[in-house]
Amino acid sequence: MSPPAALALQRAVGNRAFTAALQREQGSSRPRQSPGAVVQRVRTDGRAELTPEQLQIVTQALRHAVAVAEAAVQTLALTDDETEDARLELYRYWFGSNLFMMKEVRRKFGQLVAELPGLATHLVPYDPTEAVDAKGTVADQEFVWAWTRQNEVIRLTTSFWGLTPERQGTTLLHELTHRLWDTTDESKFGEDRAHELACLSSPAACNCAYNFEYYAKSAHANPALQARPERNEVAPEPTGDQSSGSGLPFDFDLLDGMSFADEEG
Ligand SMILES: [Zn+2]
Repeated sequence: MSPPAALALQRAVGNRAFTAALQREQGSSRPRQSPGAVVQRVRTDGRAELTPEQLQIVTQALRHAVAVAEAAVQTLALTDDETEDARLELYRYWFGSNLFMMKEVRRKFGQLVAELPGLATHLVPYDPTEAVDAKGTVADQEFVWAWTRQNEVIRLTTSFWGLTPERQGTTLLHELTHRLWDTTDESKFGEDRAHELACLSSPAACNCAYNFEYYAKSAHANPALQARPERNEVAPEPTGDQSSGSGLPFDFDLLDGMSFADEEG
């Protein structure tokens, strides 16, 4: 059918009849699009794009993720006040008793705050044809909400869209730690397991995506532990007399120089 003839026929009989006539003419050689199918837009890397509806959901989830990561930064702030004991307790619960990585953990949460708002461009729908890891293809399972590898896009599975915005947010935070720092899933899913890992090994907990996720969630749930910005600006004055100590279990100032010369005593 020539284009002008096709156009004339389309005008004459309307779209549906036109499509049916065209399909008859073309036979069954072409795959037919299912009714109501959405035209999937494709990224420059060949992966499917999120739909506008999905982008809207993701934007809300990322907003929550930023709030949670910000709470973590504030809870790790270098302040010397009445919440210090409780904040240290929270840190030890998720990252272990060894505090030498505390400053690094805070820096990493700061990076999450900076990178989360732009993360939407690195999110794609799960592609079931894609192999996940050395074990082979992981199907789009109920308890696999998202997955990624270092420097890769984050794939969102079908079940991701059924989560609450809060859980979507912490899931994206978790995945971003994999993408940025190649963190592990060593503890496996579950808060008890992540805490157990922290008890076993601080370095392992400081490199586990679940520990970042649960620490941030706990910090966000405890607004009293989040140091207020104006407090951060009040830098402790160097007194020249560091010997007496404050009676607190740990001196935050020592973190800056990574010096533990005064720890014993
Ligand atoms: Zn993970």
